[in-house]
Amino acid sequence: MTSSTVFDLDISRSSAWIFNCYVVHTGPELAVIDPGLPLVARQTLEMIERELGRSAGDVAAINCTHAHPDHVAGVTTITAQSTSCGVHLPQRCEDYLAGERPRNFPLVESSVRFLPVWSEQPFSIKALAEFARHGKSIGFGGPPDIALDFTPAGFVDEGDAMPGGEGWEVIHAPGHTDDSTCFYHAETETLISGDAVVTLDGRAWFNPEYVEADVAHRTEERLRSLKVRHLLPGHGEPIQGPDVWQSARSFTTPPSGSGVFARCSRRFGKWGDAAST
Ligand SMILES: [Zn+2]
Repeated sequence: MTSSTVFDLDISRSSAWIFNCYVVHTGPELAVIDPGLPLVARQTLEMIERELGRSAGDVAAINCTHAHPDHVAGVTTITAQSTSCGVHLPQRCEDYLAGERPRNFPLVESSVRFLPVWSEQPFSIKALAEFARHGKSIGFGGPPDIALDFTPAGFVDEGDAMPGGEGWEVIHAPGHTDDSTCFYHAETETLISGDAVVTLDGRAWFNPEYVEADVAHRTEERLRSLKVRHLLPGHGEPIQGPDVWQSARSFTTPPSGSGVFARCSRRFGKWGDAAST
């Protein structure tokens, strides 16, 4: 388990294997972003008490960047301890809950591109087990339709203020999924990117897992137009620099490196198709 303040920001991170959860504490209230797995959510609650000297009751909002299982499966672990906090999902999820079937990226050819990210953070067999268990029952991506074990308090869309976080705004960033959402803090030039952008080898990587290349391309252009000095991804280590986009890989750029995952990604990821779209 790792858990700590991220850089010099009023943000803490709890993670297991490649699953990151962030707690924003820029104001008197706490906002939890992406309590993806129950064990990560439990770690997050411990971190709130141990490191922040606060309690679950101080959590004003849980905000999920999208409704994939590894971003929503731990929600009820926190709401069980914090009965007054509201859970907010991206606006598109309201359509999913009304019956629209979410789009998913092609599982094999897309996921193989993403492989190197698996080794970016310390492996946890418990996290893998939870991911395997919940991946088929909560959120979407496993089940054909969305399935939730909580009722959202509301939905957030482009330009909205992020619930529970002073100075944070909501950015709709479709591509990885149609509901993908980021949270941006202009004052500190910080982007909590969910799965719109991951990190690899200390560099940002616009997610090579995507449902539609044109949509992913537009989102990449949009996010690159933001000033970002701190990138806090859903998967991978947070990175910082004067301009994190300077060294960023496009979603069409294969990973470098000689590791087995990077080699598999390059060999089997169908990069030619992505680059030609
Ligand atoms: Zn995802």
